[in-house]
Amino acid sequence: MAIQFAIVGSGAFGLATALHLTKLGYNDIVCFDKETVPSPVAAANDSNKVVDWLCHEINDQISSADRVAAEAMEMWQKDEFYNRFYHQRGMVVSASKTESLAVLEKHANIHKIHEFLETPADFRRHIPVLDGPLENWKGYVMEPEDGWVHSRDCIKALANLLERRNVKFVSGDDGDITKVVEKDGAVGYLESVSGKRYKAANYIVCAGAGVTRIIDLEDQVQSRCWSVAHIKVSEEEASQFNGLPLLMNLNEGYYFEPDENDTVKVVWEFPGFVNFESDHVSVPDYTVPANSAPGETQIRRFLRNALPSLADRPFESRKLCWCAMTADRQLLICRHPHLANLTVASGDSYISFRLTPVIGQYIAAVAIKGNQGLNIQDRKTWEWRPGLKFTDKPIDLPR
Ligand SMILES: Cc1cc2nc3c(=O)[nH]c(=O)nc-3n(C[C@H](O)[C@H](O)[C@H](O)COP(=O)(O)OP(=O)(O)OC[C@H]3O[C@@H](n4cnc5c(N)ncnc54)[C@H](O)[C@@H]3O)c2cc1C
Repeated sequence: MAIQFAIVGSGAFGLATALHLTKLGYNDIVCFDKETVPSPVAAANDSNKVVDWLCHEINDQISSADRVAAEAMEMWQKDEFYNRFYHQRGMVVSASKTESLAVLEKHANIHKIHEFLETPADFRRHIPVLDGPLENWKGYVMEPEDGWVHSRDCIKALANLLERRNVKFVSGDDGDITKVVEKDGAVGYLESVSGKRYKAANYIVCAGAGVTRIIDLEDQVQSRCWSVAHIKVSEEEASQFNGLPLLMNLNEGYYFEPDENDTVKVVWEFPGFVNFESDHVSVPDYTVPANSAPGETQIRRFLRNALPSLADRPFESRKLCWCAMTADRQLLICRHPHLANLTVASGDSYISFRLTPVIGQYIAAVAIKGNQGLNIQDRKTWEWRPGLKFTDKPIDLPR
């Protein structure tokens, strides 16, 4: 088959890109993935993801991250396709350590957010289910438009739509891409686990955390994962959470209101686990069982402080959720400097599902026109930028 665009990874970025290419009238698009949508290893395969206005520093002009988040928010609110996955709730962001509080305060000032929460009673006025001591918590009430989106339903709907638009999906060992093979300064073909080779006019790698196993990104991206737990609650308990603002504590964790199965998702907030197989490249290992990684104690500690009635409940399940971090937490969307027909779309940095409704147009622009397809600010922010050092302290994933 003649492939015009070969997209590696059918997660949030890959599907959004394929959709945008179909909107522009392109045909012969093939999405390769090790799994069928929703891939069990896709970060996007989840019941809920925060959508909010990102809080990056604004100097004389709005940052690319904030602008794109705002564009996406508008789509979640107004677009017929995306709106059904969006649940507007508002959000409370808190911290229990002085340095994180200072960060919060700075962001609150930039975004002109003035409702400061100082006591447990202040928090409970907004989120009555928070019946724990909330020791040392201070926080802010963020934008009322903030909320969550059902990411798994969204990517399933995207894949269905793409199938109706004749986008082809290749999955399993045939879709599990092991390498991009160079020929004359460009990608000659992709090779899969099954040994199949695929030639295309243009290649786009959107493999989430899996990117570090496929191409050498010169240490710009670390694959990292986080501990996520699920707790079943009764129907009556679930009804008490419904409609309340989201709650995030920058030093402890966050939870989401119960999903359609009355399951609460709780995440331990920390810089993540890394898995270095060589001196410098952290790659995903999707086979490591979630129970072998730390997280349970920290998740239960967070619950004891915020929602003690859930703190000793059994976990219905646990998982490790992988994504692709950059040192500055900005995206990496650019042409590969040494492989002319390869577009890299990576660096989601744990915060980019929210961009799904618009990210495809930027990735497609680079795939079609090269880096010139982006405006100068986005090009500078998302460019190939080796040499940036990671300054936070992730934990080695125990093996
Ligand atoms: C714990 C956690 C919580 C998060 N919470 C939020 C949140 O609240 N809000 C938010 O906006 N974002 C959140 N994110 C981030 C969000 O999920 C990601 O930014 C988003 O899913 C990135 O999309 P992606 O397409 O790059 O990667 P993914 O969605 O991970 O998709 C990557 C795809 O590539 C495939 N793949 C991997 N390797 C290969 C290979 N070798 N060959 C073929 N296919 C391959 C995978 O199967 C997968 O389908 C969170 C992430 C984590 C880990």
